[in-house]
Amino acid sequence: MNQQTNRHGVLYLVATPLGNLDDMVPRAVKVLQSVALVAAEDTRRTGLLLDQLGINQQMLSVHDHNERDRIPLLLDKLGAGQSIALVSDAGTPAISDPGYRIVAEVVAAGFDISVIPGPCAAVVALAGGGLPTDRFTFIGFPPARSGQRRQLFSQYAHCRETLVIYESVHRIDESLADAVQVFGADRRAVVARELTKLHESWYRGSLTELLSMAREDANFHRGELVILIEGQRADEPADSLDLEKLCRVLADELPPGRAASAAARISGKRRKDCFELIMAFNPEHPEAD
Ligand code: SAM
Repeated sequence: MNQQTNRHGVLYLVATPLGNLDDMVPRAVKVLQSVALVAAEDTRRTGLLLDQLGINQQMLSVHDHNERDRIPLLLDKLGAGQSIALVSDAGTPAISDPGYRIVAEVVAAGFDISVIPGPCAAVVALAGGGLPTDRFTFIGFPPARSGQRRQLFSQYAHCRETLVIYESVHRIDESLADAVQVFGADRRAVVARELTKLHESWYRGSLTELLSMAREDANFHRGELVILIEGQRADEPADSLDLEKLCRVLADELPPGRAASAAARISGKRRKDCFELIMAFNPEHPEAD
């Protein structure tokens, strides 16, 4: 480990299991045993993990709301030659979890970073999803409000790469419904649920099929999940591109309701769909949501 050869401490980013303790890699255990401090997103949760591993360590809470404030203290410790392990509740720190600000500051201060790799839900879902993995785009958690979510999705509507999305089980139906609107009913997708855990399950199909499964299967709303959406295929008809362009142009010139009516007449699509697309570009508009 570099900390023996370093005057300064090392910041270790230590991945932890997504829900299966056997996924804890031996190097992560060694690091957690050897550092001066474990900086944890939730000290209670990490405390349980450390107990299961038989490790007794000093902990400090570092979460989204205090990450910036903790940086000076962490830099002082590294400067004093003490190594720190940063862990999140599950998976890889800094991936939709606290950490990147700390990493940036630690790098800027000239200290060493070392990542102890391990589980990451996005990568596990991609690996088993069966959608193309040569290129992918990770968009993390979409916004909770439908208008903003559709606006985000529409930025990727013509992306050729597989999209990887983290979503809460409480919003999965709404998110899939928005995805149907933006990416089209037939786009292939996967929902990977409870990865590495007892009830790991994979749901595959078109976006509309997945939406029906979500509405019918209560399990869809339990635990944690990742959504994968296949990128736009080269042979996919470009009509959704035209509709989006058409709606954008009309919405620049007309109030949303009139723009939607005009777009529906020109494209032959439903006015409601055109209206929702227009609102997705302009979620702050008083008619949105
Ligand atoms: N840093 C973590 C990682 O490396 O995957 C992600 C943390 S993020 C706050 C939590 C989200 O990751 C969940 O809402 C879910 O979308 C996804 N996730 C985490 N564990 C999962 C699991 N076991 N199965 C499916 N998705 C999971």
